[in-house]
Amino acid sequence: MTAKGLLLTISAPSGTGKSTLINMLIRDHPEFGFSVSYTTRHARPGEINGKDYFFVDHEEFVSLRDSNFFAEWAQVHGNYYGTPRQKILDALDSGHSLIFDIDVQGAAQLKENLNTGVFIFIFPPSLKVLEKRLLKRGTDDPDTVRKRVHNAGQEISRSELFDFWIVNDNLLEAYNDLKSIVRAEKLRPCFSPGLPDRIMDFKHGVHGEHEV
Ligand code: ADP
Ligand code: 5GP
Repeated sequence: MTAKGLLLTISAPSGTGKSTLINMLIRDHPEFGFSVSYTTRHARPGEINGKDYFFVDHEEFVSLRDSNFFAEWAQVHGNYYGTPRQKILDALDSGHSLIFDIDVQGAAQLKENLNTGVFIFIFPPSLKVLEKRLLKRGTDDPDTVRKRVHNAGQEISRSELFDFWIVNDNLLEAYNDLKSIVRAEKLRPCFSPGLPDRIMDFKHGVHGEHEV
């Protein structure tokens, strides 16, 4: 059995707090890579090309899409977003763990195509709180905020396709829930393929820490 990487797909209505939670997870688990998506959305202040997204124009996105560059893509809130296929193939080949921050349409495509991975949906405590968070974040104009809150209902209606549900009311509680899922998933035998041999290693038993 060869070691596998954990592919973690996280979806939530925009403004729920998934970037916040993903950044906390990557800080505590630097072994996780982040799958940087391509988007036609304009960069927000502070966003870095190549780190938060690869920002491309519509023409370039369509050309990449038509050349089968994306493992999944979707139109979300009027912009195009896509996950580069190669990053997933590299992670699967090398056993690296990877986080995807993608919408429910993309998660559905990955679930169908990948045959592996853990799919987590994060709920806001309510649509009212979601609207407040988007307004407080201050990165979207009121019209965009309205559109994002409106779309949240459609996303929540597809939450059943996910393996785990977390409500991001209290941030630390939500983060603990997320960490618990990662911890439990990492206990699967495929993540420690050498464990039985190490336990059975006679030399380790004779010279190891249990010897007096
Ligand atoms: P997303 O990536 O889902 O669009 P963000 O991570 O950008 O959402 O979070 C949206 C806003 O809500 C940010 O200003 C963030 O600081 C804030 N936020 C995230 N989680 C919580 C929480 N549990 N309680 C209050 N505010 C939160
Ligand atoms: P934002 O514009 O707020 O960064 O993201 C808007 C939505 O697009 C979020 O729900 C986010 O998860 C989703 N998204 C980001 N990257 C991708 C991607 O590569 N594919 C898909 N399908 N959705 C994405």
